[in-house]
Amino acid sequence: MIEFKVLKQSKKSRARLGVLTTPHGEVRTPAIVPVATLAAVKALRSDEIRETKTQLLIANTYHLHLQPGEAVVKAGGGAAKFMHWHGPMMTDSGGFQVFSLGFGRDFGVGKVRKTALPNTKGAANYYPTKMERAIARGDQPNAVKITDEGVHFRSPLDGRELFLSPKVSIGIQEKLGADIIYAFDECTPPGASHDYVQASLVRTHRWAAQCIKAKRSDQALYGIVQGSYYEDLRKESARAIAAMGDGFAGYGIGGDIGEFKLGPSTVLKWTVPLLDPRKPRHLLGIGDIDDLERIVKGGADTFDCTIPTHYARRGIAYTSRGKVDFHRASLLRARGPVDPACGCRICQEGYSRSYIAHLVRANEITGGALLTFHNLHFFNTAVEKLREKIKKGEL
Ligand SMILES: [Zn+2]
Repeated sequence: MIEFKVLKQSKKSRARLGVLTTPHGEVRTPAIVPVATLAAVKALRSDEIRETKTQLLIANTYHLHLQPGEAVVKAGGGAAKFMHWHGPMMTDSGGFQVFSLGFGRDFGVGKVRKTALPNTKGAANYYPTKMERAIARGDQPNAVKITDEGVHFRSPLDGRELFLSPKVSIGIQEKLGADIIYAFDECTPPGASHDYVQASLVRTHRWAAQCIKAKRSDQALYGIVQGSYYEDLRKESARAIAAMGDGFAGYGIGGDIGEFKLGPSTVLKWTVPLLDPRKPRHLLGIGDIDDLERIVKGGADTFDCTIPTHYARRGIAYTSRGKVDFHRASLLRARGPVDPACGCRICQEGYSRSYIAHLVRANEITGGALLTFHNLHFFNTAVEKLREKIKKGEL
């Protein structure tokens, strides 16, 4: 079980300061949640993760189910112990992967649409994509079959047939043993029509109730608000999930929120006021450096994001002077740390920009590891500053 205490509610915004107490320790909120897909924050040891000021991790149910399988993780003492992290953890439900295996894979698109949305200001240059035409025709994705019971798909590793449903997802998450688990939902594809999203919501809400029923453990279960970028459907979803009362210990706000910075602020503005204020709210899969303040002001207590780690492994550092690409040849002659204003161990101990540029250009994995440490520390420090601002009444 978790306990959530709101220490301070801002008068200027929906931002709030809190403490989330889990069986594996406390999380000061708002907090960013790095992604440990396969029970690893890629390139870092678990003791290093803690040194980046990280408080909470999210691992992926879908990926751990495929390998090594939840039985192995359970035998290892559950995800937190298995990966020698021993701290607070969440697992997602596998629902997002339903989508990325489905139309997303067929048409090679991610969660975020790159062109104008049908109902935004950019509508003048809106063209339906191939995928949207397929959805409009009522096609099923090739790689998966979504039914009212759950989702059939084949393992991309060995082709075996697999099935995920509310009951199966909860069963796997119970074995993975994270402190916080998520209801199984359908994450609708970008550009999905109002009709499609509405039909999908009926299923997602029914699945939410089935997850509450299926859960046997004392893990904290979060319900997920979907509804894409449609205001009426987002509100309908928030009301439906909130109406499930103490079946849910907290909320996830998920799914496609569109590119054009309809973005996190708008979706949070629509949904947060309809949720039980005593419960923690997690924004799923969003958190670029420029979004942090908006997310926190919008009322998210936690949010997960792959950006700091993903870019680090591609040679990009986040610094107080903006993003720096360490592939740049000019950095080979640069003295000084990645960011002179950064207090992380990599910047303080004298690793030079020159050395890191060399590693990145030579494809040495140590380069990605050093930048992953720095980037996570940078993001965690940015969120720590936002917590300070809330405390001082500045946000
Ligand atoms: Zn640093």
